[in-house]
Amino acid sequence: MKRLFIIVIALMALLCVHAAAEGGLRIVATDFPCYDFARQVAGEYAEVTMLLKPGTEAHAYDPTPADILAIGEANLFVYIGGESDAWADSILSGLGGDCPRTLRMMDCVADLVEEDEGESHHHEDGGPEYDEHIWTSPVNAAAMVMAMGNALAEIDPENAGVYAASADACTDQIMAIDGEIREIVDDASRKILVFADRFPFIYFTREYGLDHMAAFNSCTADTEPSAQIVMALIDKVASEQIPVIYTIEMSTQAVARTISEETGAKILTLHSMQTVTQDEFDAGESWVSLMQKNAQALREGLQ
Ligand SMILES: [Zn+2]
Repeated sequence: MKRLFIIVIALMALLCVHAAAEGGLRIVATDFPCYDFARQVAGEYAEVTMLLKPGTEAHAYDPTPADILAIGEANLFVYIGGESDAWADSILSGLGGDCPRTLRMMDCVADLVEEDEGESHHHEDGGPEYDEHIWTSPVNAAAMVMAMGNALAEIDPENAGVYAASADACTDQIMAIDGEIREIVDDASRKILVFADRFPFIYFTREYGLDHMAAFNSCTADTEPSAQIVMALIDKVASEQIPVIYTIEMSTQAVARTISEETGAKILTLHSMQTVTQDEFDAGESWVSLMQKNAQALREGLQ
């Protein structure tokens, strides 16, 4: 396996020489937020590829040799730089130099949040592991879009004005939703979200000063929470008469159904946008359209 990896890297180094020759930019993005922001900003000026195919679990993803080749042929490679695409760093260092140009989104936002210490997550080099779901905060999402605009302007200066204009337009849409969410939270009678699921929303809840309780501390792919935690969630929902419990996209909803049966709470989805289903992808869902739905689900849950 390691040998295959080295061969692919060597092949990539050859391909890089030819990468920028043909017209139109080629952007390779790891997950849905990177993909969506790339296509929003680049529009018709680039062909954008998403490595994490619709319906794929982000946290279990590993690149195929074809993916690695696509990265080598790209004019721009966009990734988060967190746990799910940690593989990218070894591919990029294997390549050396500046081929392809890269945009690491975790470098573009302020105040990263460390993974919960209770989860046994440690980075290979022993440093702190940061929660990767930065885009769940609209403020971070806007920063990512602006970074995308700047990266594209550097790569393709001729069309810099186009990228700046579309980055501005996209940022305006994102900040309009941000304003809407702030209003919802200001008017809310409660400030807690109960997740009967994994929890990829730490940047979101922190941005709006919301508390949370979740079956899992983070977004690891665990499927069975402890009975103790489920009991604690049921107690919380029942004692505070919380009307809504949340799940995330592509959830089995098993924990949520248990809590709902005990408490009568309604189950709603907050979409983390890390990955989309094939249906959502085909319907043209975007960060903006999905966050719009999240805002509605939030309004109902904070009543
Ligand atoms: Zn996740």
